[in-house]
Amino acid sequence: MFSLLLGVVALIINCYPIPFFANVQFILGNTLTVISSILFGPWYALLTSILASTGLVIVWDSFHVYIIFGLEALFLGFCRRRDIYALYGSVIFWLVFGMPAFYLLGNLFFDLPNNHLPFVTLKQAINSMIYTSIASLLVLSIPKLWRFKGRIKDKQRRSLSKQVTYFITLMITLSLLLSALLFNFYFLERQQQLVKVNQNETVRHIAYAGETYLENHIKVIENAAYLFTITNDSPTSSQAFLSNLHRNYPSFISMLMTNEKGNFIALSPLSKFQNPDEFKLNNNVKDRDYFIESFYNLRVYVSSVFVGRGFGNDAIVAMSAPYFDKTDHTKALGIIEGSLDLNYFDKIDYDFEGMRNQSIVLTDEKNNIIYASNQLNLKVMTPFHYALYKGRYQTTLDLININNTDSSTPEYIYAKSELSNGWKLYIVEPFTPLLKIAENQMLNSFAMLLVALLLTFYISNKISQLLSIPLEMIANQFSQLAQSSTKHQLLDDNAPREVYSLYETLLASKQQLIDHQLELENIVAIRTEELETANTKLKELVDRDPLTALYNRRYAEHKFIETREFCLRSEQAITVAVVDLDFFKAINDTYGHLAGDECLRQVASVLKQHFKRDIDIISRYGGEEFMLILPMSNALNIEHHLNEFRLKLNQILISIPNGSQQLTLTCSIGAIIANANYHHDLDRWIKIADDNLYQAKAQGRNRTILTIISPETES
Ligand code: GH3
Ligand code: MG
Ligand code: MG
Repeated sequence: MFSLLLGVVALIINCYPIPFFANVQFILGNTLTVISSILFGPWYALLTSILASTGLVIVWDSFHVYIIFGLEALFLGFCRRRDIYALYGSVIFWLVFGMPAFYLLGNLFFDLPNNHLPFVTLKQAINSMIYTSIASLLVLSIPKLWRFKGRIKDKQRRSLSKQVTYFITLMITLSLLLSALLFNFYFLERQQQLVKVNQNETVRHIAYAGETYLENHIKVIENAAYLFTITNDSPTSSQAFLSNLHRNYPSFISMLMTNEKGNFIALSPLSKFQNPDEFKLNNNVKDRDYFIESFYNLRVYVSSVFVGRGFGNDAIVAMSAPYFDKTDHTKALGIIEGSLDLNYFDKIDYDFEGMRNQSIVLTDEKNNIIYASNQLNLKVMTPFHYALYKGRYQTTLDLININNTDSSTPEYIYAKSELSNGWKLYIVEPFTPLLKIAENQMLNSFAMLLVALLLTFYISNKISQLLSIPLEMIANQFSQLAQSSTKHQLLDDNAPREVYSLYETLLASKQQLIDHQLELENIVAIRTEELETANTKLKELVDRDPLTALYNRRYAEHKFIETREFCLRSEQAITVAVVDLDFFKAINDTYGHLAGDECLRQVASVLKQHFKRDIDIISRYGGEEFMLILPMSNALNIEHHLNEFRLKLNQILISIPNGSQQLTLTCSIGAIIANANYHHDLDRWIKIADDNLYQAKAQGRNRTILTIISPETES
């Protein structure tokens, strides 16, 4: 929805391109297309671009914009997806694709002079840089845009150096481009004004000179007629008079004098005639306008322009005045006529030609060409065809087309002036040189701009490195907190003060951290050791019986599994024996519990002395019952070994605490010896041992009963 909205606004903006000079216009609507591509990527940008281009189609009436700007939008969108900044993308696009394509399309579809096309193409690329820069700055400076939900996000975090370089380049590009444009704009305005002033001056000057020329010669004819009136002596003096007059005013191509019947009385120059007298006899001018107007209407007459007869084919104006009788100034006796040479304008024209490539067209009151500068190739005495230029070229000058009145390219800049006799003077000057000046001016300033931009890019890169390089060094050094801190100076003198103090602070903090870490490590080591000792103690406590320090029943049962596994592998026998003290209740009753406890401790001690192999498991099984698990036992001597213990126990004298008596103990033993594979369940072993113990008690106590389980007995 937002890209559509951008498109609609772009369409409206593009309907009003900013006129610059000639057919150069700047478009700003595409700024929104670029914003769309930065925010949403290629396809939404294409959508915006289609709408934006529609605005241009409306004003420019050419459909190529859909292709060029559509592709530009797509390209910028794809650049965005690859984290390439829009301005860089735009430069790449116009260099590699945009300018060649624009040139090609321009060649095919635009109505432009071919040598003007490269300039228009370059202008389009520059235009693109401008709106891309504006768009990028807008996106940066309007936080709502970069927080836009659903916008494309950067794939990778950009480095400080790249960001700073881009922002500086962006700002310098925009300000340089805009100032170059403004400069060029005002330069061209001034240039046009100069051309205009110059043309107006020229046209005024030539018109004035022309008018003066005509008026002076009219005066000459008028004065000559008056002079002839008052000095007229004889008919033969008229030829001398005319020849003398003509010599003084050579701008007349020819001159003549007639009598009252229109017959010649004098002709000049006589050198033009082979036989003047015969010519005088055979020709008469009484039907000519100049004769009729001057002789009958008695006035000074100036004819329209016409092509002279008999005297050549030049465009001439006839000027005539009547002369009178010496005594009667109301009675006309004839006329004096001079045909004025209009090639005089050629001389004025020639004076100007050296300075500028201006040309002159002079037309009479009927719009026929009286005079036209040579380079215009116009025919004298033909109607002057021209079209005032109303095309799309934007100038403050008046433009005119003479050769090709239908062309959409203007041909000439012109200024016009009307002489007092109704003639019109046009000063024309080709438009192309001015266009060339504009082009050169812009090309030069853009070339300078390019150099400035490269410099900017280089310098801003250097500036940003001032910050980013030391920061990166610091980041690298502090990324591993190891003790490897090199003592040598990391940052050079160029590092900014803030960065340096950050570095020092970090260095101090790092040292503190390291010290703290060492301290912690020490504490942890001590705690770990304490914990380990506590753990072993706890384990002992869990496995041992507190009174006798023998293993407890739980430990013995657990250990049995392990022991049996071990014996299984080597097919060894295991003995399980249960030892129960005889008449222990009586001891308790007689000597007290403490004595009983002492007895139990003594039994434990004897047990430990007697069954002293590491693998033997001696445990206190219940109150005064002990269980022995004796792996790798031998069926032949185990009973003997058990009995030995029984006898040894009986032999010790146990002192009663807080008493003087000593007592002896006996015990009964029930046991089983079997191969380890006999049964996995210890209870089965104990059951048989218990049964045997019961037997031993029943048979009078202080004895051992052993069951030997061999494969045969088992079956
Ligand atoms: P018998 O010959 O039939 O085994 O006779 P006895 O008196 O030993 O009978 P029994 O084995 O049933 O007696 C168990 C007595 O052991 C009961 C209790 O007073 C005594 N006893 C059990 N545990 C302890 C102990 O931790 N300390 C002391 N002092 N006496 C205990
Ligand atoms: Mg008992
Ligand atoms: Mg007992």
